[in-house]
Amino acid sequence: MRDQNALSVDFKPEPYWWDHAPPSLSNEAEGDLPERCDVAVIGSGYAGLHAAIVLARAGIDVLVIDAEVLGYGASSRNGGMVSGGVNVGKHVDLDRDQEKTMLLEASLSYTWFEDFIQTEGIDADYRRTGRFVGAHCSDAWRMLAKRMVILNEVADSSAYMVPATRTREEIGSDYYKGGMVLERSGGVHPGKLHQGVLRVASNVGAKLFGNIRAGAIIRKAEGLRLETSRGPVTADKIIIATNGYTGDLSKWHQRRLVPIASYQVATEELGLDAVTQLFPKHRMIADTKRLLYYFRPSPDGKRLLFGGRARYLLHDPIAGALHLRRKLITVFPQLAGVKLSHGWWGNVAYLRGGVPNIGEGQPDILPGVYHALGCHGSGVVMMSWLGYQTGLLISGQTNSHSAFSLGGMAPFPLYLKKPWFLPVVGAYYQLRDWADHHLDKKSSR
Ligand SMILES: Cc1cc2nc3c(=O)[nH]c(=O)nc-3n(C[C@H](O)[C@H](O)[C@H](O)COP(=O)(O)OP(=O)(O)OC[C@H]3O[C@@H](n4cnc5c(N)ncnc54)[C@H](O)[C@@H]3O)c2cc1C
Repeated sequence: MRDQNALSVDFKPEPYWWDHAPPSLSNEAEGDLPERCDVAVIGSGYAGLHAAIVLARAGIDVLVIDAEVLGYGASSRNGGMVSGGVNVGKHVDLDRDQEKTMLLEASLSYTWFEDFIQTEGIDADYRRTGRFVGAHCSDAWRMLAKRMVILNEVADSSAYMVPATRTREEIGSDYYKGGMVLERSGGVHPGKLHQGVLRVASNVGAKLFGNIRAGAIIRKAEGLRLETSRGPVTADKIIIATNGYTGDLSKWHQRRLVPIASYQVATEELGLDAVTQLFPKHRMIADTKRLLYYFRPSPDGKRLLFGGRARYLLHDPIAGALHLRRKLITVFPQLAGVKLSHGWWGNVAYLRGGVPNIGEGQPDILPGVYHALGCHGSGVVMMSWLGYQTGLLISGQTNSHSAFSLGGMAPFPLYLKKPWFLPVVGAYYQLRDWADHHLDKKSSR
């Protein structure tokens, strides 16, 4: 039975961020969709908008369309936790040199991101708060200690380890066995950030249209013909920036990208003092579990926002919120009576190699169709950067290859449309996380 007492009377099944920065249609939305453009971008999240900004600034006629309101996808619903690549290559075996090149680029992307919001005057509650990564068991702590070395060496992360005995300096909980702090890391209001990037895109002349769904792409003598719900558009180049919302837009990409839902909740206002007891340094927090929890204070410091996996195939923001509330209480038992004000979910995209990818998917069959996809749960900075890189690539403004353009995208075996395997993989990971945490707790008693 659903415990409705766990939800506030005015509980909203939508992102907390939308209270201050709801996604909307642009002013141009009611106008005529152009029949032709130089570049058509599908998807108006951070990736699509940053690609559009570079292109428009180079004098290229660029059109951005989104099937929903602008920014409807993950870019207005995420946790707003930003860093210079702490999660690059996590859970996958990368060749050491490849990992270093990617980390270096991820580190650069963070500098670029901070410069962008400062130069453009985007007021998105951005602060370099630092991040605490909690170790869910002693083995995970040791893995973090190894990772810290490369993060400091390559990504300039200003990271250091926190022993188990000092965990309480970082979090008002005994759930973790110490962890790692990354000073070069911060928090942002993702909705306000999206609105700021949208404003820049509009100011530089990108044409922005919400509520227009892209369909088939066909090569014709006059260019690429993109079918849309408001008629066809012909473009010289197309960028697919639809990430976890790609669906059946392109069968080729669909087989290579698994959408995974991430859920989040916001508590009712707890007050500044209570939140400071939970987050003594007001840092962003994530952990080392395969099915990680990520959580943070709201930008005004009065609520706790908590995220993680909840449901895989059948989505329901209320069931997901109640599930996450139980997880929240395992970390912070002192919040047993807390009510939730918001609960929502959004899709991230996972590629087979475990790292994102940009480039031309099928240059032989469909030249001119590019993509920027697959940052899993760490795309606020990285998808922005990869959109920017795709814009540079298409407009011929770069001679160097992004480290994320080299690997290509491999299809997942036995997967065509529905990620039927996610509940099985999720249950297995949950069991492994539980065993790591509980067996470790017993052995350290
Ligand atoms: C709940 C949650 C929490 C997260 N937390 C963090 C975090 O704390 N830190 C971090 O770095 N990352 C986080 N992420 C990941 C990050 O938000 C994403 O990687 C990033 O926003 C992806 O941006 P994007 O532009 O590639 O795609 P999106 O923002 O998802 O945009 C894709 C857009 O494509 C549109 N679209 C899809 N199909 C079509 C079509 N056929 N025609 C037209 N339009 C179409 C969609 O409507 C959507 O608006 C989180 C994600 C989620 C869901």
